[in-house]
Amino acid sequence: MRLKVFSSSSKGNAYALIDSKGNSLLLECGVPVVEIKKFLDFNLEGIQGCLLSHLHGDHSKYHKQYLDSGIHVAMGIETATGLGIENHHRVKIIEANRKYTSMLNEFTVIPVNMVHDTPCFGFVIKHEEMGNLVFITDSYYSPFKFSNITHWLVEANYSEGIIDSEGYGTTNSLVRNRVLESHMSIENLVKLFRANDMSKTKNIVLTHLSDTNSNEKEFIKIIQRSTGKMVHVASPGLVLDISINPF
Ligand SMILES: [Zn+2]
Repeated sequence: MRLKVFSSSSKGNAYALIDSKGNSLLLECGVPVVEIKKFLDFNLEGIQGCLLSHLHGDHSKYHKQYLDSGIHVAMGIETATGLGIENHHRVKIIEANRKYTSMLNEFTVIPVNMVHDTPCFGFVIKHEEMGNLVFITDSYYSPFKFSNITHWLVEANYSEGIIDSEGYGTTNSLVRNRVLESHMSIENLVKLFRANDMSKTKNIVLTHLSDTNSNEKEFIKIIQRSTGKMVHVASPGLVLDISINPF
């Protein structure tokens, strides 16, 4: 199983999970669909679907291209109505805390409610090749604890230290307050990992780092130190083997 990062920032968010048979599950619609097609060598039949967390443009901007390409996109009802696509035949409305399977039953998905300034899902995704992966984006904190998680794909947007330091980081107070109430700080992420059983965890991938209010090297160090796990930053182009038993 591979995790591919297409983009992970306020400019656009898109990821894919691709198993050894070529089945893939897409996360978010934040890059032009042609980028996805190229990476998958135009093997669109292998795409089991796409999960969309919420309606903000950096996650949903290219949803129409995905739907037009025959890709089924799953999302909450508020996201669908907000985008005006609730009746589209390739939109699948999903509900929090229910279990869904992909078209070929390869991936199992449970959406969970996150804490953002608009309704937003996180997802627990299961596949026999990777175990359980948690995807959390655009959330102030996680209202849930998770168990048996082998991989975390999780937002580390800003540092409370950087955002409040004078002369560095976001100085516009409106932006600052919005970020503080709707995105995950590195400090809250440390608390999240402390509250969860991390014994099965193999990889932590930090996503959605702010351009101005984060520090990549520092963030990796902080999370490595507090969890003792492999920590990566979701740089565009990253391909990570997240198999449970890599060769
Ligand atoms: Zn958002």
